[in-house]
Amino acid sequence: MSEPIAFIGLGAMGGPMALNILKKGTNLSVYDIEKEKMQAHIKTGAVPGNNIKDTVEDADIVITMLPSTENVKSVITDPNGVLSYIKPGSIILDMSTIAPTGTDEIYEICKQKNIDFIDAPVGRLVSHAISGDSLFMVGCDNEDAFKKIEPLLNAMGTTIIRCGKVGSGIRAKVVNNFQILSIAQITAEALTLSQKIGLDLNTFKEVNAGTTANNGQFHINFLSKVLKNDIEPGFTIDLAHKDMGLAIETANSFRVGLPVGSSVQAVYGQARSGKFAKKDFSALLDYACELAEVDPPRIKKS
Ligand code: NAD
Repeated sequence: MSEPIAFIGLGAMGGPMALNILKKGTNLSVYDIEKEKMQAHIKTGAVPGNNIKDTVEDADIVITMLPSTENVKSVITDPNGVLSYIKPGSIILDMSTIAPTGTDEIYEICKQKNIDFIDAPVGRLVSHAISGDSLFMVGCDNEDAFKKIEPLLNAMGTTIIRCGKVGSGIRAKVVNNFQILSIAQITAEALTLSQKIGLDLNTFKEVNAGTTANNGQFHINFLSKVLKNDIEPGFTIDLAHKDMGLAIETANSFRVGLPVGSSVQAVYGQARSGKFAKKDFSALLDYACELAEVDPPRIKKS
């Protein structure tokens, strides 16, 4: 990939994703408001930007990986944002998880400026972003633009799912995250109950894996994080609360009820009011155990 690419937002996900692009020898400029987040990329050959103008003015493709709808809107559409400096005919690839209505709005503004906008939110965990094994849900019906971003997606992940027109990727992401985050809470409750009534974790794990209760939150996420006594993010409870909110907001606007989802959202809301806000979402288990006054289970080192 010889054309210049810009990457904005080098956090838990964007950081390793940008590094994987760099490792392909890409000409990459990077920008994060927290300057120290750019250090690893500078060491790997990236050009650091001092501001958005610096970062994007030569780029053919600008990637954004930012926390919220407001962040993405302001970085792209503010007077000092990407659209003020990007070359006509370039592509903006937003990989953040934001409100579908926000994606639609930004897409319309980009169209008026002759800029292609593609949504490609990311599935799977930070560990997959690090190893280059992410999954992408792509909203794009412009084949020429897709061909240009495809090598970047291949550098960052293993699985590309074409969801349809612009905005369909983010819609798939919001629905899928609603399910993931709800299953995480059910898993936390089940493991808390199992602990409280004295079941052995390894035995219960075996039972669970052999039945249809088997799920990725227990067997992939919790077992690689909280059950190993690691509750550093990963994906924070704060961001999980944001994503449940996106699902509920979307459901409300289509008159779809998500009664279980609304209860789960309330749990994330309470968990983020205290010390768990910036912890990994698998720490829902520790929060539930705290309420049940039981020591949180941990997997024994073999
Ligand atoms: P993060 O908070 O770790 O990183 C966000 C980064 O954006 C930070 O480094 C922050 O300094 C930077 N930033 C914020 N505003 C900025 C601005 N105006 N200009 C430049 N940089 C700015 O978040 P994350 O976990 O990397 O998540 C990013 C997005 O990806 C979110 O929408 C999240 O929901 C989604 N996501 C996260 C995961 C995960 O497991 N962490 C997985 C899939 C998707």
